[in-house]
Amino acid sequence: MTRRVDPRVVPYPPARVERYLSSGVWDEIPLAQSFRAVAERFGPRTAVIDEKGSVTYRELDLRSDQVAAAFAMGGLEPGDPVLFQIGNSITSVVAWYAVLKAGGIPVATLAGHRAHEIGHISNLVGAVAHIVDDSTPDRFDMVAFAREQAAQSGTLRLLFTVGSVRDPEAIDVEAIETLGADVDRQGARRVVDAAQAGLGPEDVAVYQLSGGTTGVPKVIPRLHGEYWNNGLAWATALSRTEESVTCHAAPLIHNAGITCGLHGTHSVGGCIVLPPTERSTALRMMAEHGVDDTIFGHGMFNWIQSEEYEPAAAALRTVVLSGAKVPEEVFARVEGLGARALQTFGMGEGMFTLTPFDAPRELRSTTVGPPLAADDEVRILEPGGEQEVSDGEVGELACRGWYTIPGYFSSGEHNASAFTADGFFRTGDLARVTVHDGQRFISIEGRLKDLINRGGEKINAEELEGLLRRHPQVQDAAVVAMPDKVLGERVCAYLVTTGPRLDVPDLQEHLEALGVAKYKWPERVELIDQLPRTQVGKIDKKGLRQRVVGALPA
Ligand code: AMP
Repeated sequence: MTRRVDPRVVPYPPARVERYLSSGVWDEIPLAQSFRAVAERFGPRTAVIDEKGSVTYRELDLRSDQVAAAFAMGGLEPGDPVLFQIGNSITSVVAWYAVLKAGGIPVATLAGHRAHEIGHISNLVGAVAHIVDDSTPDRFDMVAFAREQAAQSGTLRLLFTVGSVRDPEAIDVEAIETLGADVDRQGARRVVDAAQAGLGPEDVAVYQLSGGTTGVPKVIPRLHGEYWNNGLAWATALSRTEESVTCHAAPLIHNAGITCGLHGTHSVGGCIVLPPTERSTALRMMAEHGVDDTIFGHGMFNWIQSEEYEPAAAALRTVVLSGAKVPEEVFARVEGLGARALQTFGMGEGMFTLTPFDAPRELRSTTVGPPLAADDEVRILEPGGEQEVSDGEVGELACRGWYTIPGYFSSGEHNASAFTADGFFRTGDLARVTVHDGQRFISIEGRLKDLINRGGEKINAEELEGLLRRHPQVQDAAVVAMPDKVLGERVCAYLVTTGPRLDVPDLQEHLEALGVAKYKWPERVELIDQLPRTQVGKIDKKGLRQRVVGALPA
């Protein structure tokens, strides 16, 4: 196994790699081979259920082999990045494993990303292929969009669809549903084995996107050695087995979806139910398939409060709540209907925490628990410094461990401030440690980084302000989170403008023209003579956040 050295990927220090491999926390074999081993062991069991049907491990393994072979025959080579812009379905899972089997690197972009985001990410990683969801061309024509992206890119040359509803007459697009269907089983396997042969544990398996940095989004390289085992660690912490039926109703192609959902279920041979992110269908499918554990992000806390949750709760044994502080009534409702409520904190960069099943209720309802893995190291630092604060005090959460990246992709300058001198990742989140029975429970107490968390989708304030300032009438702009009952936070823009009055639709039109994803568009605009500043001359975001709370109806 020779390691392909990519200078854009920060390696883990060699001593740590050696320790991770010899202790077995890292896998020697590539991710798709780990999936293959599970698929061979649990062949006839159901691997995935979606709105339209189900697939066994054996079928999923064969179909993803065939699609992988077709990818390879179409020119996809090991190490080639593939943009994913697709929803939750069996075909999406086929595409995921197929890209990995062909040695390609899935790039976990969002279905809602547009030219502004895709253009940047695609250029940065040198994406070769693009997989888009073509089930709703009437709402937005993803195929036309992908063609435009390819026309402007020096690297994008392969285009595939999932859920295509049109007759694919065009020769430049292929539907994953039928791709490679005529490739024979052994032939497909040979192509996959050849593609896998050169991959090692330190090679990049997946590119995730960061939710929380400055400026443009950063790319997170996750490695073959650690990524599958991260899912296995999640499965183990939740005592999942091949009998487990889990559900992931939030977008799958995201770190939580892949780690806690897909790999976290498949690493032990369980079955994952993949509904669309829509309350009634998702809860109905959970009830119908007897889902025993699931994760709800804060944008879904209101699902738990609905009547439709009751039938879904019948089989639920564990509900993991994530993304924001959990209101007591949400926690009480989950437990009142018979499931154990846990909390997690997680991020694409790696580290997860999870409250243990047997932790006292007080700690399960007020903290996000200790880190997931025994090897995870956590420090609470003085903001901006490297000095640790005492247990019980609030500081910046920093972490290091076998599945937390040592650096962003191609981001030397940013990495210098995003990591401590000894390689701890600064999360930008404020946290406090409470020690109980020798275990360190973490509670999230706010954040230092300037982002807005809209139902789990992160909006980078600096990036959005730059885009707003490009409007000819906008002289200055500051965006802040305004509290929202359903999504947790939405964007409010404070603007200094000239000319006629600007309103929400004007800004939306401006951002749409720039190709900015819709979830980033401000939903409230406040015009202001000048932006308030702190004593050191920074925009007073805290003041603006208080101001918008005061301006909102009670
Ligand atoms: P992402 O990489 O998109 O998963 O975003 C990670 C970020 O989401 C973290 O750095 C936090 O800011 C936020 N986050 C995740 N889990 C929680 C939680 N349980 N409570 C508060 N914030 C959270």
